[in-house]
Amino acid sequence: MTFNPFIVPSAKSQLISFKVGTEPTFPPFEMPSEDGSGLQGFDIDLMKAIGNEVGLEMVFESLPFDGLIPALQSNTIDAAVSGITITAERGQSVGFSSPYFKAGLAIAVQENNTKIDNFEDLTGRKIAVQIGTTGAMEAEKIPNAQIVAFDSAVLALQELVNGKVEAVVNDAPVTLFAIKNAGLRGVKVVGELVTEEFYGIALPINSEKTMLLNYGLFQILRNGTYKQIYQKWFAGEPFILPLIAPSLIGTTSSDFTTNPLSGSGSQSVLTLLIQRLPQGAVVTITLTALSIFFGLMGGSFIAFGLISDHKILKNILRIYVEFFRGTPMLVQLFIIYFGLPAFFQGIGLQWSLQRLPAAVIALSLNVAAYLAEIIRGGIQSIDKGQWEACEALGMNRLQTLKEVIMPQAFRRILPPLGNEFITLIKDTSLVAVIGFAELFRQGQLIVATTFQAFQVYIAVALVYLVLTTLSSFGFKWLEQKMDPVGQKKEKGLLRNA
Ligand code: GLN
Repeated sequence: MTFNPFIVPSAKSQLISFKVGTEPTFPPFEMPSEDGSGLQGFDIDLMKAIGNEVGLEMVFESLPFDGLIPALQSNTIDAAVSGITITAERGQSVGFSSPYFKAGLAIAVQENNTKIDNFEDLTGRKIAVQIGTTGAMEAEKIPNAQIVAFDSAVLALQELVNGKVEAVVNDAPVTLFAIKNAGLRGVKVVGELVTEEFYGIALPINSEKTMLLNYGLFQILRNGTYKQIYQKWFAGEPFILPLIAPSLIGTTSSDFTTNPLSGSGSQSVLTLLIQRLPQGAVVTITLTALSIFFGLMGGSFIAFGLISDHKILKNILRIYVEFFRGTPMLVQLFIIYFGLPAFFQGIGLQWSLQRLPAAVIALSLNVAAYLAEIIRGGIQSIDKGQWEACEALGMNRLQTLKEVIMPQAFRRILPPLGNEFITLIKDTSLVAVIGFAELFRQGQLIVATTFQAFQVYIAVALVYLVLTTLSSFGFKWLEQKMDPVGQKKEKGLLRNA
């Protein structure tokens, strides 16, 4: 059924379900409702009110912020509402309703910071932003700034509270709400608003529903519903809204390249991929190498403990292994990176971990638990008789382990170790959530500015595939090298084999 925007169904039975994507950690615009059963917030109330006017039943779907525009492009959702600023660049990939809210970017710093008063003071500083937002784009313009991108504004602000960055550039209403209403402590907003922005409902380009939503918006602006919703979430009188966002006035599509391999702006997707993916791959490889190194050391220690006769040690190590195998790595990472510093601050200690040690610790602790079991299995797979034979020869336990058991066990451990290594390469993508610009996050960052989700993620997958395939070959080669039968064959020493 197609809609004539001016013939609006009134009966409830005629409501048409309308899928709206939103990133639900952007209070007070969208956040989980108190009982956790759904969503609440200014945007949510606004959409429902518009829906009532025009006969649409809004069905909200949570998505990451940087996934909203790709989801609209692929028509996975009918619209997106998420405090999305109407910008000319985004206007090339999606359509927008008329503006429904006036906002702007603000700089947040720690309360005791006296060095940062305005945007110019941010030069060369460490700044946290939310990936794919106008705050992230504005921060890119700051000379020499070290920018860390998080999945949500809340995580970026948490980073500031934990003292790991000096500032956050983010939408003013959200930062102010977090300070005033959500109990964000030790943070203040400085200076003037960095930008003036208008939020709009985003729709697939040329969506027939744009007019309908605009009609609903005008209705609720006229009949006072908008004001009611505004005053439920914000104090004071709502701003007067323009019909069209100033950012869209005077831009034409010829201002932007339209080649599918071209990004918005001057750099093509291909150039960005060539520049950024290798950087990301280096980070991924470094993380994997460090974590497998520490994981192997820890795993070996745990495995030896597990096969020892020491009861208490054995039990402690068992609990360790069960904990790290039985809980998601993502949760472990959040505990180490966000949880521990918050806990220490709670008890009056200023302690926090930098990104690299936090990521390596989380990955190593996790991988050690898996490797421990692999190593233990390898050692125990060697026939008991060999221990006895060595004992008869007068060798002690350590000597037996070193000279006889481990060389054989290691060969058996190699194939599962290879599997673990490959899993680890892929698992490093999890540390993107703490703002690590590894391979996957580099891809996300490119999509955030170019909106070419398909090409970019395929390219990212291919780079992972190259890394895992090379590792597979590496382990195969190592297996052959370690195999005495194969070695002899190679040297021609085993004629009949
Ligand atoms: N208004 C900002 C933007 O559109 C941030 C929106 C958000 O994080 N939900 O980029």
